Amino acid sequence: MVQSRRPRLAVWKFASCDGCQLSLLDCEPELLAVAGTVEIANFLEASRAVESGPYDVSLVEGSITTRHDAERIQHVRRISKCLITIGACATAGGIQALRNFKDVKEFTAAVYAHPEYIETLATSTPISKHVRVDYELQGCPINKAQLLEVVLAFVRGRRPSIPAHSVCVECKRRGTVCVMVAHGTPCLGPVTHAGCGAICPSYDRGCYGCYGPMETPNTTSLGAAWQRLGISEPGLVRAFRGINANADAFRKASEAHEE
Ligand code: SF4
Ligand code: SF4
Repeated sequence: MVQSRRPRLAVWKFASCDGCQLSLLDCEPELLAVAGTVEIANFLEASRAVESGPYDVSLVEGSITTRHDAERIQHVRRISKCLITIGACATAGGIQALRNFKDVKEFTAAVYAHPEYIETLATSTPISKHVRVDYELQGCPINKAQLLEVVLAFVRGRRPSIPAHSVCVECKRRGTVCVMVAHGTPCLGPVTHAGCGAICPSYDRGCYGCYGPMETPNTTSLGAAWQRLGISEPGLVRAFRGINANADAFRKASEAHEE
């Protein structure tokens, strides 16, 4: 009898802090269960043993910030049946996309003694700007339970079950009192994608949007609500220009308050 082979998984790193890959390693017992379902063929953060492609599922962490990476992602796409981007860097460009609003040379000159040795692109862009992406999992870092759901869904040939609603719904589910309503603390929860379990409001602080925009966020209405709390236009620009500054909805919102 011919045994069907396990789907082969690869994990790739581009410009990032490795936090999303660590979320995968942090799965521990669940990772062992995944290892029984898929063959982890290429995951340098877990093992130096690398099996060459093609791969059934590729998880891509990080954004594109160099010419070399812009070429490398084309190769990754060619050898991957299904390509999933994980985290704020891969899905939106990450905190390093703040360069997109300035001249990157100003940053390299301020940081490096010899900026002439730094070869970098003027922008940090998400993977979807370069190749076709089959699924984007948001978060900084991603939620490990959501990651396992996405991997197992693709291995089994179904759509992942990831809620598209806002952090506010998570507040309601855990019974957290709204920090905006209760004590006027500005919160990006109404426009931010669920996934963290509304951690920040549960500690009496506002959400700063690390999971990126939810589906159809009303940033205009939230901006008006923040202004009623006394937040200035520059304050709103800063709020939307955080970890997910380059995500379409947040970028447009920050630009609208800059005018
Ligand atoms: S605290 Fe923030 S995330 Fe929670 S319900 Fe209020 S506005 Fe929404
Ligand atoms: S910033 Fe918002 S999305 Fe990020 S952990 Fe805090 S509440 Fe969750």
